[in-house]
Amino acid sequence: MTATVTVSARGAARWRAGHPWIYRSDVDDARAAPGVVTVRDRRRRVVGRALWSPASEIRLRMLSHDDAPIDRDWWRRAFDRAARRRADIAIDATAFRLVHAEGDGLPALVVDRYGDYLVAQLLSAGLEAVRDDVLGALHDAFRPAGILLRHDVSVRRHERLGMEVEDATGAVPDEVEVREGAVRYVARLRTGQKTGAFLDQRENRLLVGAGSRGAALDVFAYHGLFALHMAAGAASVIAVESSGPALEAARGNASLNGIGNIEWLEANAFDALRGFEREGRRFDVVVLDPPAFAKQKDSLQRATAAYKEINLRAARLLAPGGVMLTCSCSFHLTRSRFLDMLAAAAADSGRRLVLERLVGQAGDHPEVITIPETGYMKGALLRAAE
Ligand code: SAH
Repeated sequence: MTATVTVSARGAARWRAGHPWIYRSDVDDARAAPGVVTVRDRRRRVVGRALWSPASEIRLRMLSHDDAPIDRDWWRRAFDRAARRRADIAIDATAFRLVHAEGDGLPALVVDRYGDYLVAQLLSAGLEAVRDDVLGALHDAFRPAGILLRHDVSVRRHERLGMEVEDATGAVPDEVEVREGAVRYVARLRTGQKTGAFLDQRENRLLVGAGSRGAALDVFAYHGLFALHMAAGAASVIAVESSGPALEAARGNASLNGIGNIEWLEANAFDALRGFEREGRRFDVVVLDPPAFAKQKDSLQRATAAYKEINLRAARLLAPGGVMLTCSCSFHLTRSRFLDMLAAAAADSGRRLVLERLVGQAGDHPEVITIPETGYMKGALLRAAE
């Protein structure tokens, strides 16, 4: 018997409207331990089953619309559906996201594939309580050589969960060589950012790589993946990154691919962009892929100024007809605010920029329109009109 938790009409309506989170204020007192519970409204009607996190502001994360058991087989079927969605978008890479949490109807669960290995994050107390079913079903569905848990993420703290990195099953190596289009790279599963790499930019890297030419610039390069994709079509690439260890990994990736036309520049991006402007440098292709400047809502104003600064500098570096892919992964900088920021940057740059294409996170990170939290990445491909 699963425990029952009762929610208000507002809570139930929220789930019916397509959002899986029900907050503390819409939940009646309940003593159930973390795990899967049956959710009912105050008239005792079944709303569905959900992950229950008694210590979190987000008390319930809905999984289903009925009272059928959520067992290992339920998870297996859900993973099969997620896999079919990936098959539909024909991913040309051996590293990609298999489960994008709420975006795949599986709240609080992230699973990335790196070759034969999986890296997973269980981000709620309710989910942690059913860890064995989830990991078992991941094995049933994907037959990985091992599963690593990257639990070193601060959201786990809100759920009163530990933040350790641990091998759940199998022996997972520190580094795994993977492929993305024609580019090979080494993902550092234990120490790399996120689960080892920024998989959400995969499609944008292929897009920019395909259109690359002349002099190219990759700003905020991390392990050099944009630069590696650009190196095939460009005569030369400069990659700017402030972290020495990240650049070390990037150099390793370049030699893995036999690429010799990338100059790796360890520098602060703001200084480097100003320096290039002073020197009168021009580029045919520029990528701006900064970290999230607005991690909290209250830093949005300062963050927007920083985004504007790099975009306006980068715009001035574009050769006539040059293109720039500019991105923001700050959830709080909405798409419309992002476009307003770009307009302000373009105006101050003195360049006429044409919006050729709006982009987002790769299709294996589905953004569900009724769940804003599933989308955070936005990007624009801009061309200098003259
Ligand atoms: N483009 C990469 C991901 C970039 S993540 C990819 O596709 O994989 C952002 C990177 O910006 C991180 O590697 C971080 O070290 C770097 N960074 C952060 N602040 C910076 C700054 N002020 N100047 C240069 N690099 C910076």
